[in-house]
Amino acid sequence: MSEVEVKQIRATGGCLCGSVRYIVRGELRNVVACHCVFCRRLHSHFAAYAACDKADLELISVGKLRWYRSSPTTHRGFCSRCGAQIFSKNRDEGYTSIAAGTFNEPAGLKLIEHICVAQKGSYYEITDGLPQKRGGTDCN
Ligand SMILES: [Zn+2]
Ligand SMILES: [Zn+2]
Repeated sequence: MSEVEVKQIRATGGCLCGSVRYIVRGELRNVVACHCVFCRRLHSHFAAYAACDKADLELISVGKLRWYRSSPTTHRGFCSRCGAQIFSKNRDEGYTSIAAGTFNEPAGLKLIEHICVAQKGSYYEITDGLPQKRGGTDCN
């Protein structure tokens, strides 16, 4: 076969105001809740991210998308109009994390674990019975 395979659309999503919209082709990882201090400060609570291969994320509206470099290796993508946190990507990883709340429903995703729980806020407990890791991916 000489034709390039076009992957099916797996999910779509965007920010609150609609200025930033995306399509994911290929596989989506289920949702991981990160309780690290970086995610908590950025998301006002813990963060819930799905993830896809960087090559499978297609940005279809990016006029208001801005990137905040939260560490030498991590960039956080947000909408500069409505303020929505949408993406997180690490220079050294092959995937982009996508904030779970930004998907158009039904996205067919589920929360599967909690990470960086050693840094979680003191004002809440994790009571859903899902696996918890004290550390986690380096999403600073
Ligand atoms: Zn927006
Ligand atoms: Zn985090």
